[in-house]
Amino acid sequence: EDVRVYEFAEACGKSPAEVITVLFGLGMMVTKNDFLKQDELEILGEEFGIEVTVKDALEDANYVDDYEVEEVDDSNFVTRPPVVTIMGHVDHGKTSLLDKIRSSKVAKGEAGGITQHISAYTIEQNNQKITFVDTPGHAAFSAMRARGADVTDIVIIVVAADDGVMPQTEEVISHAKASGCPIIVAVNKMDKETANMDMVKAQMAEKEMTPVDWGGDIEFIGVSAHTGQGIDDLLENILLQAEILELQADPDAKAKATVVESLLEKGRGPVATVIVQNGTLRVGDNIVCDTTYGRVKAITNDMGKPVKELGLSETGNVLGLNDVPVAGSFMVAQNSDKEAREIATTRAEHARAKELSKSTKVSLEEMSGLIAEGKIKQLPVIIKTDVGGSLEAIKGSLEKIQNEEVKVKVIHAGVGGITESDLILASASEGCIILGFNVRPTGSVKQKAKADGIQINTYSIIYDLIDDIKDALSGMMTAVI
Ligand code: GDP
Repeated sequence: EDVRVYEFAEACGKSPAEVITVLFGLGMMVTKNDFLKQDELEILGEEFGIEVTVKDALEDANYVDDYEVEEVDDSNFVTRPPVVTIMGHVDHGKTSLLDKIRSSKVAKGEAGGITQHISAYTIEQNNQKITFVDTPGHAAFSAMRARGADVTDIVIIVVAADDGVMPQTEEVISHAKASGCPIIVAVNKMDKETANMDMVKAQMAEKEMTPVDWGGDIEFIGVSAHTGQGIDDLLENILLQAEILELQADPDAKAKATVVESLLEKGRGPVATVIVQNGTLRVGDNIVCDTTYGRVKAITNDMGKPVKELGLSETGNVLGLNDVPVAGSFMVAQNSDKEAREIATTRAEHARAKELSKSTKVSLEEMSGLIAEGKIKQLPVIIKTDVGGSLEAIKGSLEKIQNEEVKVKVIHAGVGGITESDLILASASEGCIILGFNVRPTGSVKQKAKADGIQINTYSIIYDLIDDIKDALSGMMTAVI
């Protein structure tokens, strides 16, 4: 049975605030009307010294899947290949680079199999595999992460050597940093006469992306998607990073894969492009994927060839689901057809119930209350302004009003309107508030923010903005003392 925060609090004689505070301290944002997830229930049980039994373990889809995987004993663990995402400003060569890497690394004789650009593929470098995913953009990348589907292990930021850092490069840096993945910078178009590696390094260093040879920790690799120059170097670096990450998974576990793309294909039905995160996905497996389910009818690999199975970090297209799954959802193998169908049905009902009881995330005032209790130390914000000058001024002022107890954490600051990309970034950082100065969200962005419970405050006077944040922070600073 589902239980809401206030119901749980009532049942164990605590106030809803106590429950919210415990979860908040652990980075989980809930309001009193939210349903508690199984992991939250377990944490609360431990925290309050109460035995919590969960009657229906199917309630929270993604959590249960993770839970089952965590049951696996790690003696079966083997090293798995890294999954890499490339992001960058438009026209800096993301697509060209993805295509060049693929065409130059594919086994001889198979090059003819490459007919079109695909959303994920696996290559081999020195007998070691690397899987590349083409996310439709950095917003999609963070949207996946917000859903808990952080399939990416390493992020490559591509910057054109002649153009340097552009507005979207800055956005990408924010998204990549927020992901916590190691970052490698590929400086593309090095074949061009106007290429200037030092300029790129200097601009990136300004964004706290300092190159290793300048005393920082970010590798910059010069490449050309046209000539292929530097690509081996880039791949070697990816493998090096992967080694440090010690990526491991169990090839014998129940298969769990992440859907990176999906579509309804004429004559073939729903097709899901997946990357296997654990176990081995086989033809004949009973699968459930969010609220869809089915039996794996066929798998084609990234070369379009039919295969019987997909191993760790491998990618391919899966046929056999009863409906098109959402990108970012997990595909998990189940013991039986019946089990798969039951889980999918329960989830569908659950989703409907949740839709009906949508509650908002924490507001600025509630946030102040929580900071006042010393439960959080940071107020994450995204700042958008009409011109660069005011951006710097606002950032500077916000940084000045913070003290040791509480501070504003600027997740992203940029010039331009408030976009869907900002919303996604905000929802990936718990409790994040979007501050607009002389910029407003469009109607659709506004609606989406409301639906997602993300607070957008817009201002036309800098002092108002600063005062609001000051109030939020200082009200609680005195309370802390
Ligand atoms: P995306 O928008 O980042 O995916 O960029 P594309 O891959 O579509 O590339 C944008 C443009 O830059 C195209 O005209 C490419 O031919 C060109 N381009 C990409 N990589 C290189 C490169 O290494 N050298 C040169 N000279 N041009 C490149």
